[in-house]
Amino acid sequence: MSQESEQGTLYVISAPSGAGKTSLVAEMLKQDGKLGVSVSHTTRPVREGEQDGVNYHFVSREEFEAMIARGDFLEHADVFGNYYGTSQVWVRQTLARGQDVILEIDWQGAEQIRRLMPDCVSIFIVPPSPEALRKRLNGRGTDASEVVERRLNEAADECSHAVEFDYLVVNDDFNVALGDLLSIVRCHRLRMQAQQLRHCDLLIRLSEHR
Ligand code: GDP
Ligand code: ADP
Ligand code: 5GP
Repeated sequence: MSQESEQGTLYVISAPSGAGKTSLVAEMLKQDGKLGVSVSHTTRPVREGEQDGVNYHFVSREEFEAMIARGDFLEHADVFGNYYGTSQVWVRQTLARGQDVILEIDWQGAEQIRRLMPDCVSIFIVPPSPEALRKRLNGRGTDASEVVERRLNEAADECSHAVEFDYLVVNDDFNVALGDLLSIVRCHRLRMQAQQLRHCDLLIRLSEHR
């Protein structure tokens, strides 16, 4: 099989809100040019500093429901009272081009993706303590206090699903967590199944050389 026909790997990353997944994923993309992130659709209000089409595609509930009806989503879920969903076409086309794709989605979405795409690699990120999570959510300064409280209340529920994931990363020191995430990606790319395809000519030459 040629390199062009190799499918990309799908990485599913979940975490309680405020654990650091968006910051970590942004840094992963800077350090690894072969990774792409899916921009979700959401009905939640835009935060200061967020851009439509960059952080999310911000849509109304009516538009979101029409997209569900058209089958536009690979998965979608109600998270903290808002809809969030992953574009079916973008993810499938990007993987087919051989590019690795990250989904930053909640546990309900991760469950749907595991069923649809069993070859995906799933990673759960946790903060070092409940106190650190509260501090980060407040420190981010993007959500009203009642929104922060709701997210903290739902963190325990999200974390109760951690064991369903392939990997667990503790985001205490940011750079250590970043290194852990990049190592997971690197290890996955070194698996025999993938390496055999990339280096089949080399393996043949080496095995024929006497
Ligand atoms: P943050 O994670 O605190 O920055 O908050 P967000 O508003 O960005 O995300 C809220 C929740 O929605 C998180 O649990 C995300 O993982 C989840 N989420 C974001 N996009 C998607 C998506 O496309 N599908 C699903 N199922 N969940 C999503
Ligand atoms: P999420 O996307 O999981 O909700 P964010 O990436 O928005 O989380 O991070 C929440 C806040 O915590 C941000 O203000 C971010 O700068 C901060 N943060 C992320 N990782 C760490 C860390 N290891 N130590 C301290 N603060 C962090
Ligand atoms: P926030 O509103 O803080 O950006 O995101 C809140 C939560 O929604 C996060 O836990 C995030 O992972 C989740 N989320 C974002 N996009 C999607 C998505 O497309 N699908 C699902 N299932 N969850 C998402």
